[in-house]
Amino acid sequence: MTVRQDAPGDSGTQDLEVWIDQDLCTGDGICVQYAPEVFELDIDGLAYVKSGEDELLQDKGATTPVPLPLLQDVVDSAKECPGDCIHVRRVSDSVEVFGPDAA
Ligand code: SF4
Repeated sequence: MTVRQDAPGDSGTQDLEVWIDQDLCTGDGICVQYAPEVFELDIDGLAYVKSGEDELLQDKGATTPVPLPLLQDVVDSAKECPGDCIHVRRVSDSVEVFGPDAA
């Protein structure tokens, strides 16, 4: 039996990174529920990405690598994000593969 499943995009094994546009974040925390290793709400009520060392990255447009085991959780966050403000892109050419600007 052959079962074809659509892969989530064609990102393959290429390195991906994620960033949040805080200007559009509603602060509902859905992303933190999906992937607390990657996202965190700060005291300003907005979500930020975290470094691999668990450090909150608050610079505008700051990115953090998406660990492969967490890719689906991060993609689900981007899909469910009410602010449409979670952007997942390829490190190699900065093309968005999941999020509001994905093709
Ligand atoms: S899911 Fe989107 S809108 Fe909600 S807290 Fe996370 S980044 Fe902000």
